Amino acid sequence: MKKLLILSGKGGTGKTTVAASMIELFAAKAFADCDVDAPNLHLVENRNVLPDRKDFHGSQKAVIDKLRCMFCGACASNCRFDAIKLVKSKYIVDEFACEGCGVCEQICPAKAIHLEDDIAGELMLYKEERTFSTAKLKMGRGNSGKLVTAVKQQLVKNSEEEFAIIDGSPGIGCPVVASISGVDMVLIVAEPSQSGISDMERILDTVYQLDVPVAVCINKYDISLEKTEEIISFCEENEIPFVGKIPLDETVTKAQNNGRSVIHIDCPASRAIQGIYEQTKNLLNV
Ligand code: SF4
Ligand code: SF4
Repeated sequence: MKKLLILSGKGGTGKTTVAASMIELFAAKAFADCDVDAPNLHLVENRNVLPDRKDFHGSQKAVIDKLRCMFCGACASNCRFDAIKLVKSKYIVDEFACEGCGVCEQICPAKAIHLEDDIAGELMLYKEERTFSTAKLKMGRGNSGKLVTAVKQQLVKNSEEEFAIIDGSPGIGCPVVASISGVDMVLIVAEPSQSGISDMERILDTVYQLDVPVAVCINKYDISLEKTEEIISFCEENEIPFVGKIPLDETVTKAQNNGRSVIHIDCPASRAIQGIYEQTKNLLNV
């Protein structure tokens, strides 16, 4: 399965707008949302069916059997994550602080502690004529890279399509590396601002390390023509394909509020996205 990944250095740059539009323009029958901290592709994909859901197990968490506990305090004083506290004369585990290292289980003289699989989020699969894989990480859980990998594996396992589009995670952390792994091309949606340029350069460093072909487009280019020119020059100097720029267009927000992709409406933004699609298609050779 050939995969196009849409990325941006941070949230709010229009990554999902571009991803949703590419899904429509490529008529992709397989796609995924790997923004597991804040998935929202389903909002513009307007699904009519409920997804199949399954729990995603991340790490393990310590559980104390209060009936066995002898209140020696050894677990609390040996937990280097400070995850066990004495509250109202009982030792309790802070599920957000526990890293599942197992030290407390090993040292408890009363064998009152064991580790249990923790439900860190949920995987969802929409399977109609098109296959859509997505997931949501629970608050305070740190397994986002692992969950992103699970979203991609779920898509591949449930679709025989030869082409897929993936809405990636924002930023440059672990989930982004997991998003990039195994894709055939990355399309970066850059924002024309000082921080947007810095974010784009940081993503490019990550993409280069993983040796994946990349192209760049700009969203809301007219909020800074100067920074837009800077991004275009940067791409030229570094021989990065620049595939187009999208103007600030309030039709995009209106379309999203109605659960639609902007590409179905004739407006300046949708015409620009059409151009980005054509250039991306040529680069991908699909
Ligand atoms: S180490 Fe075991 S016995 Fe001691 S306080 Fe912790 S749970 Fe209780
Ligand atoms: S498993 Fe490790 S992190 Fe969790 S409470 Fe026990 S010692 Fe602390």
